[in-house]
Amino acid sequence: MPIHEHSLIRPENITAHDKLVIDDVDVSGHWSTFIQSRVVTDYNEKLEEEIAALPGGEYIHRCWQCGSCTNSCTVNAVNPEFNPRYWIYLIRIGMEAELLRDKDIIWQCVSCNKCTYACPRDVVPEGVMKATAHWLELKGHTPKSKSTLFDQAFSDQVFATGKIEEGRIIRDFFRRTGQPLMQDWLIEMARRLVRHLAVRMLASMGLSALVRPRTRGWSGARAAIGDYVEEQKAKQHRALGLSELIEQAERELAGPPRA
Ligand code: SF4
Ligand code: SF4
Repeated sequence: MPIHEHSLIRPENITAHDKLVIDDVDVSGHWSTFIQSRVVTDYNEKLEEEIAALPGGEYIHRCWQCGSCTNSCTVNAVNPEFNPRYWIYLIRIGMEAELLRDKDIIWQCVSCNKCTYACPRDVVPEGVMKATAHWLELKGHTPKSKSTLFDQAFSDQVFATGKIEEGRIIRDFFRRTGQPLMQDWLIEMARRLVRHLAVRMLASMGLSALVRPRTRGWSGARAAIGDYVEEQKAKQHRALGLSELIEQAERELAGPPRA
């Protein structure tokens, strides 16, 4: 029997015997094809809730699987394996194991938001991709991506000083990602800045490299932002059951209790 939508089934989940005869009947090839069954332990019933608890994932429940997001997707046009509609489907039915097979490409979303404009249900698929990439990091399935490390370098500086100072953010980002500071493109950019920027501007940039600029009276705002960030983190940790996961990992590391 032919399998409809064969392309949606992973090759490793399909078994077919090239040569098979049963009771004198030749059932070779697609006549002996079967699709590996799924058992209930493959499912994470809370997966949709977990993604919905992260920024960007809030409207995933609205999806009606029309496929407009995948049809309009910039990355899908060059890599058909990148399929937002399919991942939203997997998340909504809780197929975590299946989703994890694509964990190394989900982060490739370039945030062009074409999917968001195409979506008839206001799911904000771009947000769902971000939430899913974040979920993968929080659950330890993937290391922190460079964009997450950049966000952290940026946020840490703004929280600390109330200012955005590009030079320090780039230095901090390079340190976090283990990159050398002296990179050809950066040296060239600095050269051009020196050539074209007004002296006053250059002096101000040089000064801010020596003395960290701060917003006056920032401490109150910093405390309020800090409280909000901690509150959001605690909410996300609860939704994803991260405390239980950490406790379980600690128990496993400690080994069985001594008699
Ligand atoms: S376009 Fe929107 S409704 Fe359609 S599959 Fe994508 S997310 Fe779901
Ligand atoms: S935002 Fe991401 S998922 Fe949406 S169309 Fe662009 S690359 Fe594709």
